Amino acid sequence: RTVYVNGEYLPEHEATVSIFDRGFLMADGVYEVTSVLDGKLIDFDGHYARLERSLGELDMANPTTHEDLLEVHRELVRANGIEEGMVYLQVTRGNPGDRDFAFPPEDTAQTLVLFTQSKPGLANSPAAKTGIKVISIEDQRWARRDIKTVQLLAPSLGKMAAKRAGADDAWMVEDGHVTEGTSNNAYIVKDGAIITRGLSNDILHGITRAAVLRFAAEAQMQVVERLFTIDEAKEADEAFVTSASTFVMPVVSIDGAAIGTGEPGPVAKRLREIYLEESMKAAI
Ligand code: PLP
Repeated sequence: RTVYVNGEYLPEHEATVSIFDRGFLMADGVYEVTSVLDGKLIDFDGHYARLERSLGELDMANPTTHEDLLEVHRELVRANGIEEGMVYLQVTRGNPGDRDFAFPPEDTAQTLVLFTQSKPGLANSPAAKTGIKVISIEDQRWARRDIKTVQLLAPSLGKMAAKRAGADDAWMVEDGHVTEGTSNNAYIVKDGAIITRGLSNDILHGITRAAVLRFAAEAQMQVVERLFTIDEAKEADEAFVTSASTFVMPVVSIDGAAIGTGEPGPVAKRLREIYLEESMKAAI
């Protein structure tokens, strides 16, 4: 694989960052994941806008520009022959040359790393046909989940708890209400209405979420942004999640209880179709 580090395209085994990098020592970094379908980037502008926001919220400078970053994404997709997959991007506060809680001087070079992941069959994933099983867990993350930081230990532990329980993923719960999935936004469908938690610092502002809610409204589907409990979710007609890497993915059970018929529901299936069609039309 060809990867990108601080201005250079290198074979992955030649790409290195310092042991003093703030990303490594303090999780002082932000990231984005942009999916690739048909060799094209899905919603690059949305991911770039969120990157700028994440950097701003952490008083981190933007080491790149929209134009340059788009070029790096395209070059990596080309160099690695990615038809379906992802481009991962990470920016950290760089290498101050030592370990210190205080931010390094402003002129410290930041670290910018990108790499691709090839996922043949991403759009036609078998999981989308069967749906996935989730468990519920306490949300143990910090209070700024709207910033896409590389601080991913709590979601990683949640994912492993799900695997140990024979499930695919976990929905995180705070004060009885579902926040989101370990790496996706969570939705239920009841009496035709699509229900999902509103935007706040409690959840990541999903780029796929924004697109899906827009497409749902355009298709005259009812969308309600409000809190919902895990008990309400278990009684829902349907459930699903959205993310750049799964698009719209039906959820067929929660904590072992079947949702609706126990099969992917019509709303989730329709939204997946619309999302794939519309976002591929707009891909760049
Ligand atoms: N919520 C969390 C916690 C995530 O990590 C992600 C994606 O990685 C999402 C939601 C979905 O965001 P997006 O649709 O931008 O991929």
